[in-house]
Parts: sequence; structure tokens; C-alpha cells
Amino acid sequence: MRDEPTLPKYLFVRTFLRIAGPLVVAAGVYCLYQGISRFGDFGPAFYETPKYMFAGIPLLFVGIVMSVSGYAGAAARYQASQMAPVATDVINYVGEGTRDGVKAVASAIAEGISEGVAGGHAHVAGEGEAGVVHCPKCNTPNAAGANFCTQCGQALPRPCECSACGKTNEAGAKFCNGCGNRLR
Ligand SMILES: [Zn+2]
Ligand SMILES: [Zn+2]
Repeated sequence: MRDEPTLPKYLFVRTFLRIAGPLVVAAGVYCLYQGISRFGDFGPAFYETPKYMFAGIPLLFVGIVMSVSGYAGAAARYQASQMAPVATDVINYVGEGTRDGVKAVASAIAEGISEGVAGGHAHVAGEGEAGVVHCPKCNTPNAAGANFCTQCGQALPRPCECSACGKTNEAGAKFCNGCGNRLR
């Protein structure tokens, strides 16, 4: 049907369906009508009912299918031609989305790992920064809680509690970070 040479054939079939479909529907309706009209007769014609019904129902069904095929064919083709790019876009979008999603997840995992690692380092470093006591004499960073500098033996300042607000300030702090009170 996509080939142009077959288009006339398609048109012929469609035209046939458009003409024959309703005719078959009409025939089916006629048969059903005949059957139903005989249903009320309690004469010999009553027994004609099943015959007409059995003939009418398939005719009606086939006729409707033919009509729908004939008339909806063009619409379906039109829709198909209209929908195809959309569908392609959707598929591409979904594909890209999935790819991006996978990328995002992968990068998130990678970031998470690197952040976890870096964060761990940062955390340690931060702890180091916060917990480090720089020697007042040689400026060597010493572990928090150390009493003496590992490099020069200088007595290291201890974390001190603010006499005004009671907040514990890091070793060597000159002013309280809680209230600004001068320490020592
Ligand atoms: Zn020192
Ligand atoms: Zn204070």
C-alpha cells in the first residue's frame, strides 16, 4: 500500500468497501428486520427467524467492518502518517530519556561514590580542620586533644569553655564563637 503503483488498487478496494460495506450492512439490517418481523408471527414464518438472524448478524458485522475499513482506512493512513513522526519522537524521547536517565543514575552513583569518597575525605579533613590544633610556636597541625606539639614539644592550647556563655570553643580561639566574649 505504501508503493505508489498499488495506490489505485488500494483506492479501488477502498471504494469497493465504501460502496459494498453499507450495502452489506443494509442487507444485514434487512435480514434482521425480516427475522425480527417474523419473530412476532406465531405462524410458519416464525421459524424463518433464526435463518434471517443467522444471516443478518454476520452480514451486519461484515458490512460494518467493510464500511469502517473503507472509510477509516484513509483516516487511519492519515493518522498513521501524522502519528509516525510523533511516535518516532516519543520513542527517541523515551530512548534519550532512558539514556539520560541511565546517564543520570550512573553519574549520580558516580557522584555519590566520589562524594562519598571526597565527602569522607572532606569529613576527615573537616574534622582535621576543626579538630586540628595548630602549634602556636611552629604552626604544625596537631591532632585535637594533643597536649604537646609533635614537632617542637610546645604545650598546645586546649579547647576552652567560654566563661560568659559556657560554649566550648576550639583550642586557641581568641573569642567565643557563641557570644563574642574574649577568651583568656
Ligand atoms: Zn610546635
Ligand atoms: Zn561565649
